[in-house]
Amino acid sequence: MIAHLINTDVGGRGILRLYLDYRRENFNFLHNSATMLLNNFKRVLIVTGFPIPPADIPETDGPPGALAVALAVEKLGGRADILTYPEIRGALTEFWDSFVERPRISEYSLVIAIETPGKSSDGMHYSMSGLEIKREALDGVVLEARRRGIPTIGIGDGGNEAGMGKVRELVVRYIPQGEKIASVVETDELITSAVSNWGAYGLVAEASMLTGENLLGDFDEVGIVKALAEAGIIDGVTKRADVSVDGIDMEVHSMIMKFLKAIVEQRVKDKLKLEL
Ligand code: CA
Repeated sequence: MIAHLINTDVGGRGILRLYLDYRRENFNFLHNSATMLLNNFKRVLIVTGFPIPPADIPETDGPPGALAVALAVEKLGGRADILTYPEIRGALTEFWDSFVERPRISEYSLVIAIETPGKSSDGMHYSMSGLEIKREALDGVVLEARRRGIPTIGIGDGGNEAGMGKVRELVVRYIPQGEKIASVVETDELITSAVSNWGAYGLVAEASMLTGENLLGDFDEVGIVKALAEAGIIDGVTKRADVSVDGIDMEVHSMIMKFLKAIVEQRVKDKLKLEL
């Protein structure tokens, strides 16, 4: 159910068909991702940040999701580091203080990539519109984690993100310019979503259902997106420093978040009732 909610294709970019095919073959992808998180939360590296060409300014999708996962890891009793671009780091310092620039991958128990470019078959990184991203990419840490056998989770919404290599043929089939932009970078588990932040919130919500503890807590997405916009971080669709994500008003994002929290609260209540 949560998987359905986070794949509600408000932006109409083709993720719905990709999701339906992916889900048919991987019915439990969200459950499996949440289980992977709960089994490996001790030391988590979260990678996020998507530069939008031609100026390669990072966008508002990704960092809020990374924060939600980082806060959930902390609530579980683990430690999370965030790897991202300097201007995002600057914008998020009031919400999080554990950032890394050159992570030692061998120290981590889990690597989660949220909305960050994954290289395509020609080795370059592309935006959804097929423009080359010239800025340094962060997907190398995912590749290194894979080489070392460290568990990885990818979260994306377009097909060009690290992790989406797991469903490359679906990206080619359903996403415009899929052949060119599709990422070849795979992760062990993959969460598709209509907005990558929602994919991250969905992961935390699913983990909450499994533990019986509301790990989303009082997460303030609007405050975080405001701080990002004030720091000049842009909406990836409007390409302006708007208080919005993927061209979608915060009102819609807030409703998704409210719905996720309500589902979690209901489930936690039901679980308590069963235990009485
Ligand atoms: Ca997005």
